[in-house]
Formats: sequence, C-alpha cells, structure tokens
Amino acid sequence: MHLIVAEKNISARRIAQILAAGQKVVEKKDAGVSTYSFGDTTTVGLRGHVVEVDFEPGYENWRSKQYTPRSLIDAKTIKVPTEKRIVALLQKLARHADRVTIATDFDTEGELIGKEAYELVRAVNRNVKVDRARFSAITPQEIKTAFANTTDLDFALASAGEARQSIDLMWGASLTRFISLAARRGGNNILSVGRVQSPTLSMIVDREKEIEKFVPETYWQLGLLTEKAGEQIEARHTNGRFKEQKSAELARDRTKEPLVVTEVREGTKQDRSPSPFDTTTYIVAAARLGFSAANAMRIAEELYMNGYISYPRTDNTVYPASLDLNGILATIKNSPFKKDVEWTIAHRRPEPTRGKKSSTDHPPIHPTGVATKEGIGDDAFRIYELVLRRFLATLAPDALWQTLKVNFDAGGETYTTTGGRLIEAGWHAVYPFSEAKETILPAFAVGEKLPIRKVSLDEKETMPPARYTQSKLIQRMEELGLGTKSTRHEVIAKLVSRKYVEGNPLRPTLVGRVVTEALEHNADAITKPDMTQTIESHMQQIKESKSTSDDVIKESRRMLHAAFDQLEANEQVIGDDIRDRTAEELNLGRCPVCGGTLAIKHLRGSTQFIGCSRYPECTFNIGLPVTQWGWAVRTDDICEKHHLHFVRLVRKGARPWDIGCPLCHHISSNTESLTEIPTMNEALMEKARARHIYTVAEIARKEPERLAKALDLELDAAQKLKTGAEGVLEKLRRRSECRKFMRNHLIPRKGRSYSKIMAALKESGVTDLAALAKTDPVILQKAGIGETEAHDLLAEARITHNGQILKEIGIPAVSLKKYIAAGITGPDEFVSTTPENLSAMTGMSTGTVNRHVALVSGYLHRPVPVKIARARIGKGWKELLSIKGLTGTMAEKLAGAGVINGDSLLAADAGNLSGITGIDAEKIRNYQSILQKKRENAIIRI
Ligand SMILES: [Zn+2]
Ligand SMILES: [Zn+2]
Repeated sequence: MHLIVAEKNISARRIAQILAAGQKVVEKKDAGVSTYSFGDTTTVGLRGHVVEVDFEPGYENWRSKQYTPRSLIDAKTIKVPTEKRIVALLQKLARHADRVTIATDFDTEGELIGKEAYELVRAVNRNVKVDRARFSAITPQEIKTAFANTTDLDFALASAGEARQSIDLMWGASLTRFISLAARRGGNNILSVGRVQSPTLSMIVDREKEIEKFVPETYWQLGLLTEKAGEQIEARHTNGRFKEQKSAELARDRTKEPLVVTEVREGTKQDRSPSPFDTTTYIVAAARLGFSAANAMRIAEELYMNGYISYPRTDNTVYPASLDLNGILATIKNSPFKKDVEWTIAHRRPEPTRGKKSSTDHPPIHPTGVATKEGIGDDAFRIYELVLRRFLATLAPDALWQTLKVNFDAGGETYTTTGGRLIEAGWHAVYPFSEAKETILPAFAVGEKLPIRKVSLDEKETMPPARYTQSKLIQRMEELGLGTKSTRHEVIAKLVSRKYVEGNPLRPTLVGRVVTEALEHNADAITKPDMTQTIESHMQQIKESKSTSDDVIKESRRMLHAAFDQLEANEQVIGDDIRDRTAEELNLGRCPVCGGTLAIKHLRGSTQFIGCSRYPECTFNIGLPVTQWGWAVRTDDICEKHHLHFVRLVRKGARPWDIGCPLCHHISSNTESLTEIPTMNEALMEKARARHIYTVAEIARKEPERLAKALDLELDAAQKLKTGAEGVLEKLRRRSECRKFMRNHLIPRKGRSYSKIMAALKESGVTDLAALAKTDPVILQKAGIGETEAHDLLAEARITHNGQILKEIGIPAVSLKKYIAAGITGPDEFVSTTPENLSAMTGMSTGTVNRHVALVSGYLHRPVPVKIARARIGKGWKELLSIKGLTGTMAEKLAGAGVINGDSLLAADAGNLSGITGIDAEKIRNYQSILQKKRENAIIRI
C-alpha cells in the first residue's frame, strides 16, 4: 500500500481526489480520524504537530527545590503525542505500507511535522521507503508534478525547526517559572515570558512611553479659499507650519486680494504597479479591509487547502521563472472577475513587478483556482478577490498621473495648491484597494487674478507617534527579525490573550508594562531583539547545514544562563516590584469607613465586588454586576468628591460599561429604595450616609439600639425605621421575583426591554406577582405587550401566584402539582369544589384532601366544610351499588380513592381513577355512562 501523509485532513482529502484522477475515493473513519483510499493508495491528514516536546518527567512541580527554573535550561526533553488517535492510526497504516510519502506543507514547520511523521512511521516499519512531495498549491498540476518528482525529507530544514522548538520551550518555561514564582503568581495568573513574545511586548511598551513623554507643540496653519469657474479651490501658505501665533496672524492680515497666479507647473508622475504579495504585505492589505492578522491568516490557509490560492506563508515577492503566469490567467478567466482578467491580458506589462525579497521555497501568494461567493462565503471571497486582484495588478501596466502645481501671491504672501489627475489608470483599473485619490484643478494662467473667498488660520498641535496596529507591528517585527512569517501573528494573539496588551491599535496593560520593565531593569537581553535575531541567524545556518542544532541549542543555553545570573541575583527586587505595581491596578482609593484601601476583588466563578483591605474588621463593600456583564477594571479618572478611581466593566466584543465612581454609583443606585422606607426623609438619609449607612439592607440588619445611636434617633423611631426597612426589603424581593417571572415568560423580542415594561407597570402600581395576577390585561397592553400574549401572561401569573399562596399555607409541592394538573390552581377553585370531587379529580385520598381543604379555608377565613356525614355516605353507597356490575369490593376501592357517590364518580377522570383503584378504566367509563343514562331517565320520568 502507498500511504500519503498530509498536514491536515482537508488537504488529505483534496490530494486523494486529485491523484485518484476519476477513480472512486472511499472515505473511512477510524476512531474519528478519516482516511481516503483509491486503488492501492491511502491518504491520511495530521493535525499539524501530532507530538510536542516536553521536559522529562520530574519537572512538573514548579516549587521543587531540586528542579529549579534555571534547571529547565539544561533539562532533557522528550516527545509526547498530543493527538493520540491520529498517531495510533498513522502507525497502524504504516505497518502495512510499502511506500510512505510525506506531503506536509512546504516550509520549516511543515518539514518538521513531516519529520515527526517519519519518526512515527520508522518506529513501526524500519524498512519502508519514505519520500517527500513538495508543492506550493493544492492544485491538480502542482500536486501531480510534486508526486511525480518526490525527493527525500530535508533533515537539515526539519532540524532547524526542531532546534527552534527546543529553544522556545527552554526559554519560555524557565523564564515564565522564574518570573511567576518571584511575583508569587500561579494557576491562571502566571506571567508568561517568551523568546519572541517579550521583545515584541517591549516594543509596544516603548511606544507607549514615547507617547506619554510626548509634549505637544502648538503651531498655526494658514490657508485660503479661492474660486474659479464656480469651483472652490483651497490653497495653503508656503510657510507650512507657523511656530508663532504672531507671525501667522501677521501673514493672515497681509493676505489681500487680488490673488495673483505667479507660477503654473505641469508634469507627469509614474505610479508603479504594486509588487507581489508575501505574508507581511498581504496581512497589511487585508488589515485595510478590516481583517485582523490572525483572521487574515486563517482565511488564507483555508483558501490554500481548498486549492483557491497558493501557500500563504512566504517571504518571497518575486515570481519564480517556473511559475506559469499564463496558466494562472487562463484559470482565473473562469472566475467572477473575467472582465478584469481579460483587461489585464490585453494590457499586460512586459515583465511582472518584483519586490525586494526573493526566496526559493514558495512563490508569492497568488490565485490558483476559481472561487465564487456562494461557494466560500463573504469573508473568504473578499480575501480571494484581494489576492486575485493583486495578482492582476502585478501584471498590469504602471499608472500615469498628470500633476499640477500652482503658486499664488496675495499682498506679498505666497500660497500654493496641487492637483493630480489619473491620465492612465493602469493597475488601478483592476486593483481598487489603494488610496490614490484624484484632485482635479481647472487650468490657470500666470498673471491671472482671482478672488479670495476666505482666509483661515487654524491652531493645531503636533501629534505623538501612533500606537502600533497589528499589521504595523508585524511589519516592524519582520524588519527586526523577530519571529517568522508563520509565527508573528500568533505571537500578537498570545500577547492579547495573556492580557499584556489590549485594543487595536495595541496598548500595553499595566501587567504587560510591569513585567517588561522588571525584565528590562534586570536582564535586558530578554526584551531586546538582538538575542532572538542571533538565534534566527543560527537557524538559517542549520538549514544550510553550516551549523548543527546541537551547537545552536548550546549557544542558546549559554545566553539563558547569563540572563539567569542577573535574574537570580535580583529575584527579591523583581518579585516585589511586580507585586507592588500590579496590585496597584485594582486599588481604587481609601475606604470611606475605615481609611483602609478599597480594591476590586474577583472571586472564583463570576462574582466581583469592591471590598476593604481591613476585612474582616471593616465589612464595607460595594456590589458589582457579575462578570458576564464585564470584567471590572479601574480607569484613570478619579471622583472629585470621594477621591476614588472610576470603575469600568469591559467585555470582549461589547462596548465597555462605565460605572464611574463606585461610591457615587452605590449611593445613587440605593437612593430610590431608601426613600421607600416610610419614616425616611432627606435629612435622615444624609445623616445615614455620613455614618456610612448606604443601603436598606444595612438598616434592616442593624440592632435598633445601634441604629438609634448612629442616627441620633429615639429607640422607638429607630425600631420603626428598621421595621420599615424590612418591609422595603420584602417588597424588593417581590419586585425582583416579578421581574424574573417576566423574563421567564415573555419571549425576548427585538426592541423589547424588560426594564421598560417593568417601569410602565410600576406606573400602574404593579410591582409584584400578586398585583400582576389581578391586573387588567389592558394595562399590560399599554406597557407594550400584545393582546393574546397579555392574556396568556396573566393566566400564568395567576397560576404562579396562587401556587405560591397554596405553598405558603402548607400544601406540599407534590400535591400542588396534582391539583394544578386537575385545574385547581388557586384558593378560590379549592373551596368551590367539593372535597369528594377534589379527591376524584386528583386521585388523592379523601383524608389528604380534607386536610388541604381545611388549610385553604383557614387562609380564606371560611368555615371548614363538615366531614361528610355517614348518612350521606350510605346514600351514595347505595347509588353506586345500583350500577349494574359494580360490586361491593369495587365500591370500597372507589371510596378509598374519594369516590363515594354518583356525583364524584361522574366527576372523576377514568384513567386517574383506574390508576389508583386498579379497576379497569374501560369498566369505570362504562359505569359512568350507565349512571349518566340512569340519571337522564330519572329526569325524564319526573
Ligand atoms: Zn474599610
Ligand atoms: Zn464619588
């Protein structure tokens, strides 16, 4: 069997389809992993790396005395399977293979993944022939050529990848452990450090510091507005930025009509077609369309695996001579961009454009197949269009601009304006993604006099350098040799997920900044790009077999040991520094009650609140919404009254929720409920706040004596206040129960707001379930609820409310369920039904029902119905026995179920009754109909 190993499942499937050349491809699943077979060939897809490097056992415990963070530098590593099912299947297939072809992606990472597969195959089949197929696009032509010309695995290339893996593990693990332990952090809270990650973070932190240090300078800009042939034209003073207001004002005042044209300069400018896409320029272009770096790469990889574009990880900006440009044009002529392709063919430049970087592994990114919007979806299609149009642009002619520069004089002050007109669109005709804009000016003649419509003097400020956007950062990383084309966007995503940076453009968080500065001060080699650049250049030497991976790893170990010499000497300082400064990030200011420190606390789960550092001595706290509404952070604003930092809830993908000063928020959100306490007044509320009593619950919980003392009240007034507060608490509880009921029973709908409905109901005095149950449906309709929905809601409210009452007066939940099922949903229905019938309807014994009836009657202040008199039972008994076929034993059974006369038999549900008595339901129905007829006859007789 010929086994083909691809990098991913989807590429395994496509390769099989291409190589099968019309033969049927059979898909089989083994433990969830697919294989694709045709003839004697089977393809299987990996999931990228299926093994990972890890340290030998023994290094798991972070706090081990023997295995310190530094010991990780020299620790031995092993490979452990991460995708066990794929590894098992690969080895199972390899045992029976007589040829194995590695068809993973064609770059360092792909070569290493291929080598991992090679080792797994060799472990079970020592002699099988293993070869390697290399291709830059999963298209029939490329795949067929690659499989017809297989070579050997490039062990040098793979070993460069392997060295990188080991070095990254060694760096990341030892430094992350060291810093986290020094700062006493663990679990989800560790502080990660990485070989590429830390210098990248450092760049973002440095930029932020530049921005903070920046002192803006004021300058003035002078411009005027003139008019020709009905068109308004702006011109600016040739001085550019005026540093002094006075000289700018002088120039303004001297600017007098007429505006005389002193010079007209015409020219042309060539606008070169753009060069082919490598990974970085592609990411930058995709960012202009609104795609994040990670998203742009994910979509490009999908397009590659489906054969629509070539391999998107490339440093090459020069089409290799072997690339069949005509073939590509012929292919994409069938795409939705046929017209543009034809235009390009008709106007094609002699040689395609070329960029500065040329490498031999992959060609620049280009289209390889035909995609449609319906077939691949909107986002993928926009990326496909971008790649296709860029390809066309690299074959299209340069554009030509006609430029016009006009100089003016106005009272001795000189002004100028420029225009540009695209006279030959060139590549712009097929590539609308560039920012070139035309400014078309009318013709001017020297000596011509024009009016001045307006002179404007604008005061402006110089701007600090801009923060890095993701794509700018990727460009900068490339310039500095940080990371590779495959890893840069992943490094940025990691910085975001570790909460070191946030936003786009990227801004460091306090933690990101503190960790970077701690490293900079104590072991700056870790945050500088130099060391990682050195390693990258060594990596290149391994690829070219000029150096071995052992040498490079050894060199790396030496560098790390040197860094640890510095770090370990300063461990205490580094730890204290990070701890002190990161704790700061949650502190809001002084506790109003005790002067301790108020800070945001995040508990396990989703609870967060603001508490005091002197807890439990000081119990002052302010509740916050659960984290689903947003993670609480402090902002730089400070409340003038309370001197506390503002609090903001931040949630991914949502606008932040600004709480503002937490104490102002606490006070205002409790004012309404405090005013509901009957004996509360404005002055008392002020006094309470001055004594740090802010909520109804605090009043309700305080002992009357202490309340009296705190608020200078008579004991009896304090008692009244407390009782009032308890009443309000109960009301609040009912209100929230009512709101919950609404949420559970009203279907959410666009534009429907529960709080609006609740507010409308409140105006009509409906704040709890009891009131809701008695409400007129018209009131609900006024609150914006539809007619039928209002009726249903009220019915539900009645059932829920009555159910609550029945439960409160002592009817057990199990029985309540049976009553509700039988349609007895409230106290009123209870007493309007006879106990016998209740028993018959619910199947509960008369004893139980009687007990319940007594409870309900008590609640309604009604007399308890007398127990059924013996005489009545006797009479009913007779009536039952008069039914043909109903025996004494049966009558006894029926009585046990509460059926003691003809009425209760007719009222009972035959199925229910059968269940309790064991009498066949059919028989019961028969008795019921006999009795019914008998009674009808009796009526007729009368
Ligand atoms: Zn306190
Ligand atoms: Zn405040």
